[in-house]
Amino acid sequence: MILKIRQVGEPVLRQKARPLSIDEILDRSTQELIESMRETMHDAPGVGLAAPQVGFPLQLVVIEDQLEFIQKLPAEQVAERERKPVPFHVLVNPKLTLLITESAQFFEGCLSVAGFTAVVPRAKKVRVECLNEKAAPVTIDAEGWYARILQHEIDHLGGVLYVDRMSSRSLCTHENYARYWKDQPVAEVTKPDKLG
Ligand code: ZN
Repeated sequence: MILKIRQVGEPVLRQKARPLSIDEILDRSTQELIESMRETMHDAPGVGLAAPQVGFPLQLVVIEDQLEFIQKLPAEQVAERERKPVPFHVLVNPKLTLLITESAQFFEGCLSVAGFTAVVPRAKKVRVECLNEKAAPVTIDAEGWYARILQHEIDHLGGVLYVDRMSSRSLCTHENYARYWKDQPVAEVTKPDKLG
């Protein structure tokens, strides 16, 4: 089932999501929610979706970065962003550790802030410890774009949106991003005199 994606301003996006018990993870209602979140993410389309975005304040995330999305992007952009396909997977009750504090700055967007994009600094390498959809413990070491997706989605579980972390002067509509900024180096975009 395709679920309604909540937009910024809905209180559920600013709440702290609660962890799920083992029984809850294995319960049919959660398994159905996971399947619906997968369909909703594909339909959007997006590369990640957190349960609060579809109205459930639960520590549950789905992620998938499909090869077909990546193939549509310029090769240079894929290389610069270190973007590689990530198979579908589920994070429950994730704990995030930044493995290096050095950050990468790229434009990112959010299905819950429809129509906008901004430059967001994100740690280049992270570790996530969580449970999967079978309630089995998993440790994920990620870098590049995948590390960004993980940080973005896990932020949702703490009621944090990318707008809380963005370089605010870089905020633009998708249209204006395509028109003015997509081929500019990020340093140009965030420079005060460029947007002043
Ligand atoms: Zn988001």
